[in-house]
Amino acid sequence: MRIVLLGAPGSGKGTQCKQIVGRYSLLHLSSGDILRRERASGSELGKEAQSYMDSGALVPDEIIIKMMAKAIEKAPDSGFVLDGFPRTVNQAEELDKTLANDGRSIDIVLNLEVEDGIIEDRITGRRSCPQCGAVYHIRNLKPKREGICDNDGTELVQRPDDTPEVVANRLETYHRQTEPLVDYYKNNSTFFDIDANKSADDVKDILFDKLDALVAT
Ligand code: AMP
Repeated sequence: MRIVLLGAPGSGKGTQCKQIVGRYSLLHLSSGDILRRERASGSELGKEAQSYMDSGALVPDEIIIKMMAKAIEKAPDSGFVLDGFPRTVNQAEELDKTLANDGRSIDIVLNLEVEDGIIEDRITGRRSCPQCGAVYHIRNLKPKREGICDNDGTELVQRPDDTPEVVANRLETYHRQTEPLVDYYKNNSTFFDIDANKSADDVKDILFDKLDALVAT
């Protein structure tokens, strides 16, 4: 199964991907996580991406497309869930070409729809563990000890691009560059809009229903 999870930053893509890969034995391919790992390792790619990421802009297509094609090549036959990629129509077209080279295609696109006000609250309150990647929220998903990761005791941090100013830029970038993808996929793939203003558990149940139906066909 090859899935694209679409949605604005903070719409819950990462959280839902973790649930989906567990249930269907898929590989989670998050472009944001791959970029953050590249940055942490000090690679050339990481350095190139840094200024774009920190300002809330998109990293140029040619860098991202090459990086994700490499990641997709290594995916198991069972399939993958794409999280944060594609983010432009050009990226989607290149993804389709890469897959078509091996006779493959995207099976389903799930679009997580969330109001901007809810997104701003979710992202600016988000705190993450720099060690294991676990994600918390200062009000809705508190760790057991304030500011400390439950898994490994590491001090939680706010991602530099989760501050209010950068979040405003990321949302603007999303509406201008990524939202047109909704029409692209509506015309080209099995596509579902999902109301993701609901709780993570409710959204998970809706996603599982759609994916179970696909598996059963
Ligand atoms: P995310 O964790 O998905 O919100 O991504 C964090 C940042 O990484 C974004 O704000 C972009 O700067 C960059 N990024 C991630 N995925 C892409 C993509 N598909 N195209 C361009 N830039 C991306």
